[in-house]
Amino acid sequence: MTGSPADRLAVIGAGVSGCALVAQLRRLGWHGDLSVWETGRGPGGRASTRRSRSDGGRRLDHGAPLFNISSSPEPALLAPLLEGGWIEPWPGRLAQLDVDGALHPHPGDRLHGGRLFRGRGGMDQLCQGLLELAGGRVELRFGTLVRHLAVTPTGPWQLLDDGQQLLDEADWLVLSGTLLAHPRSQQLLGWEEPPLQPVARSLGDPQLTEAMASIAALGYEPRCVLLLLIDASRADHWRKLPFRLLEFQPAARQRWGLERLALQPLEDGRCAVVVHSTDAFASRHLSVYGAGSAIARLQPTQPSGEREQAVIAELTAALQQVLKHWISPCDLGDGPSKLMRWGAAFAQPPGLPAELMLCPQSRIGFCGDGLEGPGFGRVEGALLSGERLANRLVSTLRAH
Ligand SMILES: Cc1cc2nc3c(=O)[nH]c(=O)nc-3n(C[C@H](O)[C@H](O)[C@H](O)COP(=O)(O)OP(=O)(O)OC[C@H]3O[C@@H](n4cnc5c(N)ncnc54)[C@H](O)[C@@H]3O)c2cc1C
Repeated sequence: MTGSPADRLAVIGAGVSGCALVAQLRRLGWHGDLSVWETGRGPGGRASTRRSRSDGGRRLDHGAPLFNISSSPEPALLAPLLEGGWIEPWPGRLAQLDVDGALHPHPGDRLHGGRLFRGRGGMDQLCQGLLELAGGRVELRFGTLVRHLAVTPTGPWQLLDDGQQLLDEADWLVLSGTLLAHPRSQQLLGWEEPPLQPVARSLGDPQLTEAMASIAALGYEPRCVLLLLIDASRADHWRKLPFRLLEFQPAARQRWGLERLALQPLEDGRCAVVVHSTDAFASRHLSVYGAGSAIARLQPTQPSGEREQAVIAELTAALQQVLKHWISPCDLGDGPSKLMRWGAAFAQPPGLPAELMLCPQSRIGFCGDGLEGPGFGRVEGALLSGERLANRLVSTLRAH
């Protein structure tokens, strides 16, 4: 494929879908230049791991704690990820909690049915592995928000930062996250309109116009996530709990405002505890970002610490109530409690139809868990969307 009309492709977003796209493009033998732009400090997106520069052993999977594969055929990238040791079968017990606080075996559902996996040594290893499968021939730019886009019908796509400085030029562009195309960026960041909108208008490509409308129709559910690190002297109780992942049944969710509890024992004896709120709880606290959330860094003013502490206290109290059957007193120690607010945790249908994922006239493609089809709204869908777009791109470029 060297020397094809598309010599350079820029991908915005290094979540599962963007990383799967570059891995699959290379597996299919596409040799053009690839750049990946990501506002986060590393790859992973909603399947990332919070690590500490000063404390090497500390890690918390603060988005997806695991992922399931239930489609057939399974994603083509699954086997190489397993063979490379980047992911491993989920090792712990799954349980459900009823409204009276009793445990039940997990029957398996949308997020927990089929084969279960996790990143080996942290969920971010899934994306790290995908980038590795791409063979290291990808220009990776972390910590950079692409804020503006520009293009002419025959010229290259231009990626620009907040100060309108040119970051990159590419023949083809892929958005693997919807921030630049979805109206939520207006409420979230106070942008006048989604940055792709004026560009799409100027291009006048009916397929792109339809894709933009379909992306705008995507719904998103938020989640608040409480992150705790239990020191080694107290962690024994937590390690002995009869589950690694606990899901709350509907009535239990309503009672406690919690949806899932994930235990992540660390090699040094500590135990990370990650508590996911319900959609309803997070929707009530939409304006509380959590100082460590990616979105907080993009806000013109720093979020209120007081309101954040109140949300942390509410989630902590609910957790202590739930666990009193097993750990009493439920002493969390002096470790820091952090809040992560995911404004767009789970995509809601209708998804982007597959025929709109690539708009050849405008030289733009879309991937991500919002693409309709198997695995919609989950890691599996994100993986498959990257693969599907890569397949489509390569055959389109070959046809050129
Ligand atoms: C709390 C939580 C729990 C979850 N649990 C599960 C689970 O158990 N199982 C499961 O399968 N799924 C789960 N999910 C969903 C799963 O994480 C997602 O479906 C999947 O990770 C989506 O991947 P993606 O590549 O489509 O999008 P993302 O991960 O959102 O990737 C998009 C990336 O693009 C970047 N980006 C966007 N715009 C820009 C820009 N302008 N400039 C630079 N970078 C940009 C973003 O920072 C992001 O990293 C969970 C999600 C959350 C939040």
